[in-house]
Amino acid sequence: MKDLYTMKESNLKMKDQLREESPFPWIQYVTSCYQCQKCTSGCTSMKHLELKPHEVVKLVNMGLIDELLESETIWTCTECLKCWERCPQGAAPVNLILSLRNLAVKGKAKLPENLLKTVSSLIEIGLIQREQRVPLKNLETVDREKLNLPKLVYPSEEFKGILLSMLEEVF
Ligand code: SF4
Ligand code: SF4
Repeated sequence: MKDLYTMKESNLKMKDQLREESPFPWIQYVTSCYQCQKCTSGCTSMKHLELKPHEVVKLVNMGLIDELLESETIWTCTECLKCWERCPQGAAPVNLILSLRNLAVKGKAKLPENLLKTVSSLIEIGLIQREQRVPLKNLETVDREKLNLPKLVYPSEEFKGILLSMLEEVF
């Protein structure tokens, strides 16, 4: 099978690999998706997704995995789990997306720049970003203290060390 828009070929071997390596048992329900689009109609990231959740399931079913691995979609999903909640078939597009991320990393696919920035921030400070000042309605910018928020607790060096060794295993 060939996607006539992208000219990508179906890769059934990769589909089997995705099924075998998926830590989520729900993948077995993927074939029962009947494209009702309930997942897509509730998706919180829909506007930003190049491929919609029901399309992700469809492409996996057709074996067009390479197309998905190259798509920004698998990195744009916010993992809100709404598609899982809404799917009448338990197909959970989010679980497919997480499995596709794992496959993309294993296959040394090009990762989005923003993701790499997040990872390097995690390694450096243990958080996805530094604490920030926020603007109020009167345009004054304030910090956490001014907002009576508790002081941020940064993760320990031990935590960062464990995280780094885990990342070294993956990359
Ligand atoms: S994954 Fe579920 S909600 Fe989405 S189209 Fe398929 S059956 Fe419908
Ligand atoms: S988990 Fe991802 S794909 Fe599913 S509804 Fe949320 S943003 Fe959309």
